[in-house]
Amino acid sequence: MTDTVTDRKTKKLNVAIVGGGLVGSLEALYLAKKGHRVSLYEYREDIRKTPQVRGRSINLALSVRGRQALRDVGVEDHIINHHGIPMRGRMIHRPDGSTYEIPYDSRTNQCIYSVGRNYLNSILLKESEKYINMERHFNHKLSEADLSKGSLTFLKTETYEKVQVTADLVVGADGAFSAVRKALMKKPLFDFSQQYIEHGYLELFIPPGDDDGFQMPPNYLHIWPRGNFMMIALPNQDCSWTVTLFMPFKNFALIDTEEKLLTFFEKHFKDSISLFGEKRLIKDFFSTKPSPLVAIKCRPYHVSDKALIIGDAAHAVVPFYGQGMNAGFEDCTILDQLFTKHDDDLARILAEFSETRWRDTFAISDLAMYNYIEMRDLVTRPSYRLRKKIDDFLFWLMPELWVPLYNSVTFSTMPYSQCVKNRQWQDKVLRIAMMLFIFVLVCVVIAMKMS
Ligand SMILES: Cc1cc2nc3c(=O)[nH]c(=O)nc-3n(C[C@H](O)[C@H](O)[C@H](O)COP(=O)(O)OP(=O)(O)OC[C@H]3O[C@@H](n4cnc5c(N)ncnc54)[C@H](O)[C@@H]3O)c2cc1C
Repeated sequence: MTDTVTDRKTKKLNVAIVGGGLVGSLEALYLAKKGHRVSLYEYREDIRKTPQVRGRSINLALSVRGRQALRDVGVEDHIINHHGIPMRGRMIHRPDGSTYEIPYDSRTNQCIYSVGRNYLNSILLKESEKYINMERHFNHKLSEADLSKGSLTFLKTETYEKVQVTADLVVGADGAFSAVRKALMKKPLFDFSQQYIEHGYLELFIPPGDDDGFQMPPNYLHIWPRGNFMMIALPNQDCSWTVTLFMPFKNFALIDTEEKLLTFFEKHFKDSISLFGEKRLIKDFFSTKPSPLVAIKCRPYHVSDKALIIGDAAHAVVPFYGQGMNAGFEDCTILDQLFTKHDDDLARILAEFSETRWRDTFAISDLAMYNYIEMRDLVTRPSYRLRKKIDDFLFWLMPELWVPLYNSVTFSTMPYSQCVKNRQWQDKVLRIAMMLFIFVLVCVVIAMKMS
């Protein structure tokens, strides 16, 4: 027998969320706010009690989609006004050390924000303590799942005890190597693909200056584009910088001595050496190994009315559009809207999420791959800068009609697949305009010759 709308409104769901990272903690807040009984299970210990772990990006670029979700759960103001550092554009570092800026949005001056991963995660967990209908279980690793029954087995990592849990809804927000997704993969008609790119990343640090201030202008995402590789830097709240070097693994492997490292930096990132300090650069570079970057596409995201995957578990993307977390946060916003639209009817909510969301997550995955080429190579080309100027002018002239790709992805909530379509017709219009221009030019030259 199916529940009536009135039954569903009064009946609160038992929801088990696997993964208390950024997306899981946010989804827990959305559901707790709706009055459901939420249990959050996280493999690691409480992030608020552990020091920052190196190797995973320490800060992240937060943009409009992520901000909307944070606003819905009541923490946006705190994150933006008391923590985030605005980045208004890209600051490009040439090999000779000179720099120039490319604003993100010269029309309305919108910006993205550099936020600390651990800080944001901590704030979301702290906020969840306001809800008596929500429990947090740290040191719980999902080891088995029967998703059709909503049944989960966790291993308590401190005591090695097994804990059995049954829920009305299981939400898998357990990241790119999701255990919930592994259970989903055993279901028929589940499509899955993963792609490792040939580039890895390694994090380095620029400390605050002698005056304890920033050593570079802070309100930018700094980029050292070098064709096949690049380095970027995002500002931290303590006036340091988290610097990420993205490069093919085979190039990393060639740098195996201090001398080779310094020669490499002298050649490609000369202006950064004094900012790092030679000793620190050498220590940081050789104390860790480059990490891989993976993109995952799969569908459907759900099992009947019982289980769903969101965030990186459903769609890990390479980090070059700064959209992985933002897209995961947007999953939570969309789910929230579907809960309202379908009056908590899980079968309809999960089915609609699966049927509609994949087009957008596939689109941002492809855009993120493309943006790596733009960031490491195209930004330095005159053709890119000319196109940006044309886009900015047309955006200024017709803000409703001509929204450039970066702006639609980063500063709007336009579905990602629509952002791609938008760019395609803009490309077409510019191609036609260019052909017309050449045609008129040729006609004028011919007319002049004949007169
Ligand atoms: C170098 C780099 C830079 C990035 N920069 C940006 C950026 O600027 N902007 C942006 O929007 N995104 C960025 N991203 C992407 C962003 O980090 C991810 O999209 C985001 O962390 C996804 O959040 P999540 O909660 O889905 O997964 P995760 O953050 O991976 O969290 C998953 C959680 O699940 C837990 N877990 C795993 N397995 C189990 C299990 N079996 N049982 C219980 N718990 C489990 C994990 O411990 C973890 O806490 C970047 C990524 C990288 C690698």
